[in-house]
Amino acid sequence: MKYLSTRDKSLRLTAAEAIKMGLSRDGGLFTPVEFPALSEQEIRALCQKTYQERAAYVMGKFLDDFSAEELSAFAGAAYSADKFDTPAVAPLRQAGGQTWCLELWHGPTSAFKDMALQMLPQLLSASLRKTGEDKTACILVATSGDTGKAAMEGFADVPQTKIMVFYPRDGVSEIQKLQMVTQRGDNVGVCAVVGNFDDAQNGVKRIFSDTAIREELAGRGYFLSSANSINWGRILPQVVYYVSAYCDLMNAGAIAYGDKVNYCVPTGNFGNILACYYAKKMGTPVGKLICASNRNDVLTDFIRTGVYDRNRTFHTTMSPSMDILISSNLERLLFDLSGGDDALVRGYMEQLAKTGRYEIDAGMKAKLQELFYGGFCDETGTTDTIAALYADHYLIDTHTAVAANVLQQYRTETGDEGIAVFASTASPYKFCDSVLEAIGETPVSDSVERIAQLEQVTGVKAPRRLAELKGKQARFDGVTEKEKMEDVVLNFLR
Ligand SMILES: *Cc1c(COP(=O)(O)O)cnc(C)c1O
Repeated sequence: MKYLSTRDKSLRLTAAEAIKMGLSRDGGLFTPVEFPALSEQEIRALCQKTYQERAAYVMGKFLDDFSAEELSAFAGAAYSADKFDTPAVAPLRQAGGQTWCLELWHGPTSAFKDMALQMLPQLLSASLRKTGEDKTACILVATSGDTGKAAMEGFADVPQTKIMVFYPRDGVSEIQKLQMVTQRGDNVGVCAVVGNFDDAQNGVKRIFSDTAIREELAGRGYFLSSANSINWGRILPQVVYYVSAYCDLMNAGAIAYGDKVNYCVPTGNFGNILACYYAKKMGTPVGKLICASNRNDVLTDFIRTGVYDRNRTFHTTMSPSMDILISSNLERLLFDLSGGDDALVRGYMEQLAKTGRYEIDAGMKAKLQELFYGGFCDETGTTDTIAALYADHYLIDTHTAVAANVLQQYRTETGDEGIAVFASTASPYKFCDSVLEAIGETPVSDSVERIAQLEQVTGVKAPRRLAELKGKQARFDGVTEKEKMEDVVLNFLR
């Protein structure tokens, strides 16, 4: 299976090359030349397998330069019992009659990013071997909170890699920040950026496309790679859990093969919901793809009007991992909806860079609206949803609440009451202050103490590693202006 760029479809890279490079030199995103099918027979067979076996199987369809033995070993290590606190890895929980919740936060950092970032370092390590690379990969990450921690946890002390994480100084929760600045590992670096997530992400993109920096680092024995969800090695492991959830619904007797399941995904950079789209494209019987946004509703408008316009107020919300106005992975969807028209995609992306806006053509818009529903949820809606589900004995975080809320909006607006799964992307313990307030409690002043407080009030056990944050020393205190991110990287890679 070869990979092309969304901005140059004549490219043909192996999976190992695409994973090693992260982002194409032309600024485009690597995408498989074709999508393998998953037949009814295969899905039925997957129903009998463990999560690890499902992962190795589904990923193997895209990674033919990796052996089945390699992929099984990777899946075993990524989703092992000492990393994930449940053998199901990504368990489904029923949240009322036709509504199920796919819990994606049982990994080491309590956010769904672990699902991909426990796998990516292994794929990257193997890709370096397979491509005969002797330089050290330096992973540059811009994070809205969860990616940075999950990436460092995945890459800490992985040979032949270094990792530098940039986070928006005022755009992450206290717990998220503490998780990052206490990260172990000799090959990790963390720095706050004065600005928002888009500033951090733009800085990382700028460094990637800077040839002078690339040459300087090559001289020092480094090359840059990405762990952001633009890397194919991030998207692919996420396809697995949508297939897996379908199998689990069959196993639970909730559906028969062929029944369509609607999936509602709390969305930021469009990686998670794109993976769901790919699961559908492969043949998993997925119904509507429901794209849930917070007050930063650029995707809601896009799905409803066909106009992507980032010229709007940026809102800092209680679901910070979704505070994004440029959803990078949308480019892969555009490429697909356009029938692989790389020139058209390049044009849209140029308009976005220049004017902050583009409008897709009528044909693409029709396809988009047939596949997707877009909705958003404001802060009051988020709080109310947490309270309502808690009253129903289910404690969820702010991001998950956005999805639960938009799923309800979808049902009310369309009358489609069919079976639906909403994705739960973080443990409520990552956002204790908002969750405590939502359930009518006053958070104590110390952010780490709030973990114990939430546990006491609700009786829901906190993830072990979050509870362990208490008393940990910060290792990193760097802050940079967004224009100076280059210097931080050059210092880190001395
Ligand atoms: C990253 C993240 C999201 C958004 O996922 P995308 O793949 O960027 O759309 C949603 N919720 C949480 C908790 C996250 O960490």
